[in-house]
Order: sequence, then C-alpha cells, then structure tokens
Amino acid sequence: MKSRRVSNIGVSSNRDRPLKALRNYHRLIDQVDNVCRRIQEAYAEQIACEKGCAGNCCRIHLSVFPVEAISLAVALKKMPQEMVRHIRQKARQVNSFGPCPLLEEGACLMYASRLIICRTHGLPMRNEYRGHRYIGFCRKNFRKLDPIPDKAVIDLDCLNNNLAAVNQLFVSEFPDRVDLSPRISIVEALLLNL
Ligand code: SF4
Repeated sequence: MKSRRVSNIGVSSNRDRPLKALRNYHRLIDQVDNVCRRIQEAYAEQIACEKGCAGNCCRIHLSVFPVEAISLAVALKKMPQEMVRHIRQKARQVNSFGPCPLLEEGACLMYASRLIICRTHGLPMRNEYRGHRYIGFCRKNFRKLDPIPDKAVIDLDCLNNNLAAVNQLFVSEFPDRVDLSPRISIVEALLLNL
C-alpha cells in the first residue's frame, strides 16, 4: 500500500490549522466519551470489554471520514518516530482479513486517539436496517439484562449524523485542498503523508 500525500492541508506549513479544523471532531469525541463513560459506570457489571479481550472485535476493517483519517494521521505524526515506523510497517503488511494494524498484544497502539466507532464498540447501539429497528451490541456484554434500558443505548443515527456534519464542516474548511476520498480505510489513514 502506497502512502498518500496530503500536501496542502497545511499540517507542515501551519501547525495550528488542522488542529483548529479538527476542534469540532475533538469536541464530538469528548461528548461520545462522556456518554460511553456514563453507560460503563451505570452498567459496569454488564460490560465485559477489557484490554486483552479475546473477542476479536478489532478485526473489522473500517473506512472512515476524512476528518477521522486526518485526526488519526495527525495523532500518529506526534508519536515517537520509532513507533510511527512500527505502525506504518504493520499497516503496509496488514491483510484484508487480519486484525486492525493498531491492535498489538490485546491493546490499541493509538488508544487515546482511537476512532469514535472504536469508542462505542460493544455498547448497545440503536440501529435501523431495511426499516427494522434493532439494538446491536457485543454478545459478551449485557448478558443478564433483557430488555436493555433506554439509557444504556446510544442512538447510532444521531451519532452518525453528528459525525457527518462535523466531517462536512471540516472538508469545507479545505475546499479543493483535501485530496481524499469520501471514505478512507484505516490503513490508508495510517499511511497518509501529511
Ligand atoms: S466489544 Fe466484545 S469482543 Fe470487543 S472488547 Fe468488548 S467484550 Fe470484547
């Protein structure tokens, strides 16, 4: 996988610029973290998620919005060079059915900068498929609570709408500048050359 160049997003010429443009995304992350924390605290005995879990939930290959990809790439750029090289090497070698390249010894190498989907993963999410509403969650969680209370459920549509709006605003701050597809894989994000 080749690394892609995002030459004119301004990361090297103006260090504050992408950070300012990412502010809405980081605010959304804070809100998502608060919601997740509240659920995790209120239903601690119902949640099996932990570092090193053998459930393999990080084996899903995801695509993300440009705002998420740039945020991940900016966070990676701030890491020690040796770790950057290590992560990029893993990203180049990843196979499409293998684990996320950021998963190592049961933990995320960029846990503090992980994506929103990784922050909410495993928790109950209200979703809709072909007109049918359902609550999706990891079956290791909430095994002894049926039905799942409303206050333990995250509204996926609402979250996705907020994320899409934040992404639209981010992209609009760089008209004709962000040379990115509407969706970017995690591997591509890790190989972005800012
Ligand atoms: S979501 Fe499921 S598989 Fe992933 S860490 Fe939580 S309990 Fe384990």
